[in-house]
Amino acid sequence: MAAKGNVVGGSALTVEELTAQRDRAQTEYDALAAKGLKLDLTRGKPSPRQLDLADAILGAIERPVSADGTDLRNYGGPNGLPELRAIFAADLQVPADQLLAAGNSSLELMHDAIVFALLGQVPGAERRWADEDEITFLCPVPGYDRHFGICERYGIKMVPVALTPDGPDMDEVERLVAGDASIKGIWCVPKYSNPDGTTYSAETVRRLAAMTTAAPDFRIFWDNAYAVHHLTDEHAELADVLALAAEHGNADRVFVFGSSSKITYAGAGVAFFGSSPANLKWWSSHTAKRSIGPDKVNQLRHVQFLRDADGLHEHMRQLAGLIRPKFEAVDKILTAELGDSGFASWNAPTGGYFITLRVPEGCAADVVAKAKAAGIALTPAGATHPYGDDPADSIIRIAPTYPELDELETAVAGLTVCVRLSAVEKLLA
Ligand code: PLP
Repeated sequence: MAAKGNVVGGSALTVEELTAQRDRAQTEYDALAAKGLKLDLTRGKPSPRQLDLADAILGAIERPVSADGTDLRNYGGPNGLPELRAIFAADLQVPADQLLAAGNSSLELMHDAIVFALLGQVPGAERRWADEDEITFLCPVPGYDRHFGICERYGIKMVPVALTPDGPDMDEVERLVAGDASIKGIWCVPKYSNPDGTTYSAETVRRLAAMTTAAPDFRIFWDNAYAVHHLTDEHAELADVLALAAEHGNADRVFVFGSSSKITYAGAGVAFFGSSPANLKWWSSHTAKRSIGPDKVNQLRHVQFLRDADGLHEHMRQLAGLIRPKFEAVDKILTAELGDSGFASWNAPTGGYFITLRVPEGCAADVVAKAKAAGIALTPAGATHPYGDDPADSIIRIAPTYPELDELETAVAGLTVCVRLSAVEKLLA
């Protein structure tokens, strides 16, 4: 994945030159603020046109019966519809009989996995996590704020580790997990990560699967939310973490999550959980107490709409046709406005939902505040880090999918004005 632009620490310009630059940026910013914009680049939601592409899902179901003759209108089928699990198995890299189809939200499954581990003993654990003095999760940064929110809610300590272009800094991860038995988990978005668009290298996946952990009940929370969300024909390859973990004697190490939220309907898709047979047994012992079975009628709708893995891939190609121009537009505007300024760098991901914009240290919160005052809503600076704290205050997440192209272009152009003003003010300060 290409990194664009660059952020340089200082400036070779004189104070007079910088002052002139600041005055120009201030004039541009005043003009921007006077437009009275009301634009939103905050959350990675599918646009209405993306959702429209899945509307055939609402077509009437002729017979609400599964391939094996089960009446799907009734209770039961706790593992979800086998034909839907078969469609997603290869892309989520989980054998279909180890992949469960559940409700509409994978975040809900991640939340439940943590609650079940706190209140019920995961395979391999000496005790419930709630009975430990301290529980710690490693959090590759920049990462997904809602992962961090779950940890914060349940008092799980979070330790950031750097996300490199190959995935989490594995020297650091291996060192930490080997020496501290309170470290019970790591959050991973292994493909087209949120927000960097990084796909973990084969070597990173192998090391995660094979590493020695002080905690016998260590779990990788493998949130493969963007498994099929390619933007170009160049598809990132991800190594098979479940198979590698089993190969290295750590079969129970991995919880795999995924969903169709950004494939069909974000609010009415299907979520998946995959793991080892022992973990599935443990998982089902909990879920069987809270539900008599998932919404299998919605799962059947997905089967009828997607048909098979090829149908899924074709649908993703159509979605990419809507999303790719938005990513290209952001890249084009950032290049034109900030490319050789020394004030910003960003990535040009080949998949996923986000672009990370890096601005000079100490500027991200100010840029977001300036943008907000000019009517452009951005994800709060720091959201990409545990406890909302980006120590360098330099990362801004851009979510290009939801707005229409013209609105997106206006918002990103406005954002570049805020970056220039903030950066030059910082240099003068
Ligand atoms: N995981 C990641 C990495 C995400 O970016 C998102 C949504 O932005 C989700 C999970 C939410 O998934 P779901 O809609 O299945 O709960």
